[in-house]
Amino acid sequence: MASKVNVITIDGPVAAGKTVVGRELAQTLGFTYLDTGIMYRAVTWLALNKGIAIGDETLLGSLAHDNPIELVEDNSEQVSVAGNILGLELREANVDQNVSIISKAGPVRTELVAQQRKIAAKSKIVMIGRDIGTVVLPDADLKIYLTASPETRAKRRWQEMQDRGETTELMTVLTQTIKRDEIDSGRANSPLKPADGAWHINTDGLSIQQLVKQIVDRTKTL
Ligand code: C5P
Repeated sequence: MASKVNVITIDGPVAAGKTVVGRELAQTLGFTYLDTGIMYRAVTWLALNKGIAIGDETLLGSLAHDNPIELVEDNSEQVSVAGNILGLELREANVDQNVSIISKAGPVRTELVAQQRKIAAKSKIVMIGRDIGTVVLPDADLKIYLTASPETRAKRRWQEMQDRGETTELMTVLTQTIKRDEIDSGRANSPLKPADGAWHINTDGLSIQQLVKQIVDRTKTL
């Protein structure tokens, strides 16, 4: 019998494995994949580029509204915004350090959530982020909350940076990871937290293949 699952949300802290699991899961199921973090990163990149103060929530909201983000076909790590195709730029240290502050701005969230819902309305989707099961798509068929220990997560983030040729101390990455989680979990607007009824999975010591198989098996029972 065909699965009744059309919408899957994956939320969780920095480097819990959301991106790689979400992408693989979407590919296995033939669903669209959207990493909403990339949208908050794109707004942050634009704001830094235009010299907009990171505390000016109204101006940041207008920036997000006036520059809708388009997905790039066949490349989930890139977006097109304001005439720029952005990929690696979105992973730079200055974006990493400012994205959680800009993501607290209510007007930015209102705009990006509307864009995310529009994308979700078009096809079956795996959407990942911080507030997808709680705010963006609370009626999703399957809501997942991925976690891992701060050490595992910092190590993953550090490895990604090494692979890009960036030299950073592991301890620095650990401190920044914990700081970003604190801002994301402590903010008043759409804080990072598990959605009601979310399936919690700790990814410590699990391979991507194991995780994806577990999730695909679960969709078959729904
Ligand atoms: O997932 P990623 O690390 O790329 O997300 C970057 C930042 O964007 C997060 O730390 C968070 O501050 C913000 N974000 C958010 N809501 C989402 C996705 C990301 O606030 N749905």
